[in-house]
Amino acid sequence: DARIAGEFGRIMAWADKYRKLHVRTNADTPADARKARELGAEGIGLCRTEHMFFEPERIAAFREMICSDTVEEREAALDKILSYQQGDFEKLYEALEGYPVCIRFLDPPLHEFVPTSEEEIQLLAKAQGKSVETIKNIISSLHEFNPMMGHRGCRLAVTYPEIAKMQTRAVIRAAIKTQKDHPEWNVRPEIMIPLVCEVKELKYVKKTVVETADAEIAAAGVKLEYEVGTMIEIPRAALTADEIAAEADFFCFGTNDLTQMTFGFSRDDAGKFLGAYYESKIFESDPFARLDQKGVGKLMKMAIELGRPVNQKLHVGICGEHGGDPSSVEFCHRIGLDYVSCSPFRVPIARLAAAQAAISESGK
Ligand code: PEP
Ligand code: MG
Repeated sequence: DARIAGEFGRIMAWADKYRKLHVRTNADTPADARKARELGAEGIGLCRTEHMFFEPERIAAFREMICSDTVEEREAALDKILSYQQGDFEKLYEALEGYPVCIRFLDPPLHEFVPTSEEEIQLLAKAQGKSVETIKNIISSLHEFNPMMGHRGCRLAVTYPEIAKMQTRAVIRAAIKTQKDHPEWNVRPEIMIPLVCEVKELKYVKKTVVETADAEIAAAGVKLEYEVGTMIEIPRAALTADEIAAEADFFCFGTNDLTQMTFGFSRDDAGKFLGAYYESKIFESDPFARLDQKGVGKLMKMAIELGRPVNQKLHVGICGEHGGDPSSVEFCHRIGLDYVSCSPFRVPIARLAAAQAAISESGK
């Protein structure tokens, strides 16, 4: 085992000498974050905060939040969630030891979070002091035929700015605490807004974020730098990336959604008709596994070319599944991304692929 670890370390050190792309990880738990650090991740590129609500008491608080019908009720539920989130983020900052941590604001397909069984509905009615019928009416008002194209991502933060406020507080309070505990680290949180398709959405949510963050920092009497960026995962965002870049510190390509929306293929139905169709004579390969360079890749390239002249400091990454696929990593290198972010176990492959891309480009 020691020999394998030694060989592994040697190959990875060699790859790191050549690669230009940074490699981050997608992680929502401290265990995943630590594993990824061991495997060489240089930061978290995507923390999906909606994944932090799977435990029963957390999902209960989440349901209270989305099934509330007054701001007061929602704020009471959000107070509970704030304390969970602050603890979650502190643990992630600890695990990353000063490397960047990018926290994406809630992007839950609401249908996955509303109660479905009679028992869940009754529990929620009891917790909210409402009738079962009222809860059922709220649930039916949340129903959408296409939830993946509906009330999720930044749209949720636009309708309920108090959710963005709560998450900002959690991110900033956790960062202030970590900075105090570890003054030797460079704690600089990155807040990422999902599913933006229009710059005004980003401006609107960013205003809430900046006001809330600055008030928290001033109240604590400390200095803390933070960034606010956006996912580019809807074709319209890529096409209007010059406008968006003026408001964003960074772009991160969400190529899972970008592929879904560019092809009009459902990312959730791969096992059915579409799975076989991707492998047909026409499509050759699954565009969710290997980045489609002609269409999705063209949108990425265009977004970078539009965005960078407007904001020279803009840093750009990818956090869709493609961030750990070697041929996709090579493409990301070629179009000038700063980092790729992938699941922890794909980090070594991404490091190697990034080195290989740099070497083949230089013709060595
Ligand atoms: C994406 O869309 O590529 C992405 C990273 O976000 P999610 O998979 O959570 O939608
Ligand atoms: Mg997405």
